[in-house]
Amino acid sequence: MRDWLSHRVRTSPDATALVHAGTGESWTFTELDGMVEETAGRLVALGVAPGDHLGVVLEPRVEYVTLIHAAMRLGATLVPLGDGLTPRELGRQVETADVTVLVCGAETEARAVEATDDVPVLSVDATVTANATAVVSIYEFLPEPVTPATWSREDVQLLLFTSGTTGDPKAVQLTMGNVLANAVASVFRLGFDPGDRWLVTLSLHHMGGIGPVLRMPLYGTTVVLREEFEAGPAADDIDRYDVTGVSLVPTMLRRMLDSRGTLASSLRTVLLGGAPAPRELVERCRDYSIPVYPTYGMTETASQVATAPPDEAFGHVGTVGRPLFWTDVTVVDEDGERLPPGETGEFVVDGPTVSPGYYGDPEATAEAFGEFGLHTGDVGYVDRSGRLYVLNRVDDRIITGGENVDPGEVADVLRSHPGVRDVAVVGVPDAEWGERVSALVVPETDELDRTDLEAYARERLAGFKIPRAVAFADELPRTVSGTVERDAVRERLAAHDE
Ligand code: ATP
Ligand code: MG
Repeated sequence: MRDWLSHRVRTSPDATALVHAGTGESWTFTELDGMVEETAGRLVALGVAPGDHLGVVLEPRVEYVTLIHAAMRLGATLVPLGDGLTPRELGRQVETADVTVLVCGAETEARAVEATDDVPVLSVDATVTANATAVVSIYEFLPEPVTPATWSREDVQLLLFTSGTTGDPKAVQLTMGNVLANAVASVFRLGFDPGDRWLVTLSLHHMGGIGPVLRMPLYGTTVVLREEFEAGPAADDIDRYDVTGVSLVPTMLRRMLDSRGTLASSLRTVLLGGAPAPRELVERCRDYSIPVYPTYGMTETASQVATAPPDEAFGHVGTVGRPLFWTDVTVVDEDGERLPPGETGEFVVDGPTVSPGYYGDPEATAEAFGEFGLHTGDVGYVDRSGRLYVLNRVDDRIITGGENVDPGEVADVLRSHPGVRDVAVVGVPDAEWGERVSALVVPETDELDRTDLEAYARERLAGFKIPRAVAFADELPRTVSGTVERDAVRERLAAHDE
């Protein structure tokens, strides 16, 4: 199998591949192919070879899109690294993923140089500033001929780090087969056509952002790239470029609606993932006829596991829909035994999109896989019609005074209070109770009163579930993928107690 862009160039050479949302500049598939060939050629001249691990630490620029396809052309495994990481975090990921060459830009150069002593650092910018001896611009070398790589299904196309919600980010191996299987399963559920325009404004080092860029030549869709997420301008892009699809985390969509009221009617697909879609947000989409698809997925499955089309999302608020074609989801109890529909347990996922494991970590890999497939660490249930409901993570269960508390249930009750905009419920260590139910609340207005909220909870929840500590915040701490950073919430609540 050759890289996907070279196939697309033959079938639709003059279709638009890429639009830069900020400037409006655009490139056809033929033009993008030329840029990819040139970049791949310069990388070859610099000694990058098939099988290399090409680390990328770059803001979501046009050069990033080019690099993604250049890696595929020359046969290198792409390792997208967070552009917001500190040099220490970056260095650790470079080491974990055995990065053989690290590509940066002017904006990330200083960090890239500090992150590593032994990995060569290349810049996609012509001018190198930080430390001229440590960085080489790819423009210092003339492109050499590229022998297009042949990929097999098992070849690892991507090493992608998880968001690190439950610990250190893990380096997930995604094969060419995993990514292709997800592309096929997604097109069955979502129906992409050549001519669709997909707004990409999620980070390119997570599947939600890089996925559409990788798949663009497969579907013949156009990518509209927004370098920096700002709610108002992102909403305006939809109008300006007749955007038909976008992937967002729920907080982004809420901010876009807050700033512009509604979104342009060109939109056919709004994928929401990474974190639970709040009921209020789904209902707002229903009121404004915004075609929202709540989605459940993870890095280890090359993105979606399940997604609910708008009718299903609006008719069964809270569901993430049925598993995609080819994907099996089993719910298991603590002993790994299969549970019947309606019962709550851990989701286990199996199918061709599931990663073969974590790079260089056979122990974590062995721990994650069981009889029915990959243990997701997510807790939920499947209804009789096969719809999935995600409740919380296995690690999030709170045990207080020997009683099990589902933080999602407590959070739902607090969130239903009109004065509450958002909330996270966690267990905070407690000498007497083991853990103490605690809540970090984002108020809707300044008038939210703590005793009123406690009384509200007391009417609706058993005594042991009532939060013992409640703190207010302007916003919940979240990872770039939109998941709540529960450790940060715990720290805030612990500090609040002192
Ligand atoms: P780590 O694995 O390092 O702890 P992470 O699991 O947050 O981090 P990702 O792979 O980016 O890293 O995120 C996948 C997770 O996001 C899922 O396992 C799930 O917990 C959460 N998630 C995704 N979609 C939803 C959803 N619709 N509702 C609730 N949670 C979701
Ligand atoms: Mg995870």
